[in-house]
Amino acid sequence: MVEYNVDINFDETSIAWRSNKVAKKDGTFAYICEGKTKLGKKCVRKPLTGCNYCKLHKNKLIVEQEKIVEQETNVEQEKIVQQETYIEILLLLKIIITLLFLFIIKIICNKYIL
Ligand SMILES: [Zn+2]
Repeated sequence: MVEYNVDINFDETSIAWRSNKVAKKDGTFAYICEGKTKLGKKCVRKPLTGCNYCKLHKNKLIVEQEKIVEQETNVEQEKIVQQETYIEILLLLKIIITLLFLFIIKIICNKYIL
């Protein structure tokens, strides 16, 4: 016969289950917002329907996501500007090298041919 070692940590499970709920006076539980207050404490507001956050924290979340997107866009734009600068420097170098080459050819022509 096979023996199974069933080791369920009920305390941890209970803590995890309660993490987004608050006990009411009648013994039932109600969902609470998963956001944190400015002091780092749990927000106890009622979450919006179909959402894990209250109105305030949902708006905060949206603002934070928009900030992240904006930062990423800025980084991308900086990269593009850097790349464009490199390309311009390369073009300038090409022109300088071509001019130098022409100048050297002119000197050689003057010295040996003419
Ligand atoms: Zn909240």
